[in-house]
Amino acid sequence: MLRALFLLAEPAMQVAKDKVVLFHYTLTDDAGTQIDSSREGGEPLAILAGQGSLIAGVEKALEGKSAGDKFQVTVPPEEGYGLRDEGRTQRVPKKYFQDGDKLKPGMVTVLRSQQGMHQVTVVKVGATVIDIDANHPLAGKTLNFDIEVTEVRDASEEEIAHGHVHGPGGHHH
Ligand code: ZN
Repeated sequence: MLRALFLLAEPAMQVAKDKVVLFHYTLTDDAGTQIDSSREGGEPLAILAGQGSLIAGVEKALEGKSAGDKFQVTVPPEEGYGLRDEGRTQRVPKKYFQDGDKLKPGMVTVLRSQQGMHQVTVVKVGATVIDIDANHPLAGKTLNFDIEVTEVRDASEEEIAHGHVHGPGGHHH
C-alpha cells in the first residue's frame, strides 16, 4: 500500500507505442457469459503496445492508460475478430481429417490444405463428409472487456527488436 502512495507522487507512465503494458482482463459476450479471463491463470497478460498484437479495440482503449487504471470497453466485431464470413464454412470429405471418426460438432480440429494448417470448428459430422467453419470462434461477436492495468514500463531494445515482451506474462527464451 505504501508503494502505491509513492507512485502517486510521480507522473504515471502512460501506455504508448513501444511501452510494455501488463494488464488483467475478463472477457464476456453480450449475454454476459465469461469467455476468457487472465485472472484465473493468475498472471496478467504482457504486451508490447503499438505492435498490433492485440485486437484493435483493446489496443485503442489501452492507449494513454497507466498502472492502476480500471475500465471497461465494448469492442464491436469490426475492431475485434472481424465479421463472420459465411464463405468460410465448407463441406469437406472426412478422409482429409486425421481424426475424422472422433470428431463431434463444436470440436476444434486442424485441417491441412495447400495453404498450410487451419484451425476449424466442426459444425456437423456426416457419414463421409464433415461441415466445418474456418471463422475465428469470436468472429461476429461483440466483446466486453473488463481491464485493469497493473504495470506500464519502457520496452528494452531487445523487446522492440523481437516485437514482443520478455519475462513474466511474455516470452521466455
Ligand atoms: Zn524475444
